[in-house]
Amino acid sequence: MALYKHGQFLNQSQHEAFDALHSPGSIAPNAGIYRCAGCGDEIGIAKGHTLPPQNHHQHGYGQGAIRWQLLVFAVQRA
Ligand SMILES: [Zn+2]
Repeated sequence: MALYKHGQFLNQSQHEAFDALHSPGSIAPNAGIYRCAGCGDEIGIAKGHTLPPQNHHQHGYGQGAIRWQLLVFAVQRA
């Protein structure tokens, strides 16, 4: 589970971008921290980079396939 110390620098959001599940090897539509919905593994990635592939980490029985879900959106100045 992701950790943080200074909560004043994070805002909660209901944006739909946090609901999408992304396949391994697909393009990250936003910069930030992504969490595997199957096992909870987390990665940081830049916008437009390729999310880790199916062999990035191993799942136990019942965890299903790797599905990357946006956990923390990194807001970059235009
Ligand atoms: Zn996983």
